[in-house]
Amino acid sequence: MSILSVVLPAYNEEQMVGKTCRVLHEVLSGAGISYELVLVNDGSKDNTWNEILKAGEKDPNILGVHFSRNFGKEAAVFAGLAQASGDAVAVMDCDLQHPAETLIEMYQKWKEGYEVIEGVKKSRGEESFLHKESAGFFYGIMSKATKVDMQNASDFKMMDRKVVNSILSLTERNMFFRATSSWVGYKTTYVEFEVHEREAGESKWSTWSLIKYAFTNIVAFTTAPLQFVTVGGGICFGCSLIMIIYSLIQYFRGQAIEGYTTTILLLLLIGSAIMLSLGVIGYYLAKIYEEVKHRPRYIVSQIVRGNKDVTGSVR
Ligand code: UDP
Ligand code: MG
Repeated sequence: MSILSVVLPAYNEEQMVGKTCRVLHEVLSGAGISYELVLVNDGSKDNTWNEILKAGEKDPNILGVHFSRNFGKEAAVFAGLAQASGDAVAVMDCDLQHPAETLIEMYQKWKEGYEVIEGVKKSRGEESFLHKESAGFFYGIMSKATKVDMQNASDFKMMDRKVVNSILSLTERNMFFRATSSWVGYKTTYVEFEVHEREAGESKWSTWSLIKYAFTNIVAFTTAPLQFVTVGGGICFGCSLIMIIYSLIQYFRGQAIEGYTTTILLLLLIGSAIMLSLGVIGYYLAKIYEEVKHRPRYIVSQIVRGNKDVTGSVR
């Protein structure tokens, strides 16, 4: 009998943990699927860990992983994958925005032999115009970089054990789960789902954190910005050559323009272009520095299965 693990990263989800576990239990047991819920408490500042422990008291199929601090969703997903023991492993948000019923559909696809079952948003839910447009722009770049269509991609997916092992074997710290699961390849299919409204608690994403997230992931996945800098430099160089030749001709004709303004503007333009390029290069350098330090992605302080503390005995 195969087991399905469901990985649920949770950060400040005290209001949702109990309900999510209950709903998943109903839906999965109802469909006769043996399951395990891996709840990763990503250093929540509220009562999330106690809620996970409480849920574990009632359901021995719950594995709670407690981080020593907040390490971010990607790290929480990774920790969940590392602890999951199922033959198929699903990842979903802990706020029920990803419908539990879709898991059944994904599970059937897995039984049919698919190895990666991607959840695709039917619509992007209720988001602001700016959010939608910038997400479109970001996924456009990411789709080009990964050569996989990432529009409407989500973190809601199910994977075969083989796929999970492949993802776990990647050693980079800056992992972008959404793209990594398509990067590893395997036989993939898609299942559409409707994004539900968040019932309680609030979204952890501010506009600023989304911009940072987008930039980090672009850097983690592609060197396109560096090529962009090179191409930009090339274009600037070309323009400069034309300007130089033009100026020299004017000079020898005795028609040189006395251009204080032009000089200052050009200086400013080139100065800022150089600073911007250095910034892009510096960002890559910072990421390389982070990678070579080889720090762990996350630190686990406690692991609980059902109501038993198993911190020492689990991977
Ligand atoms: N999350 C996490 N660590 C964080 C931020 C978020 O584990 O630092 C979890 C959160 O608990 C939720 C999921 O990631 O289960 C998605 O977060 P959220 O609902 O805030 O994102 P949104 O649905 O608004 O994109
Ligand atoms: Mg959410």
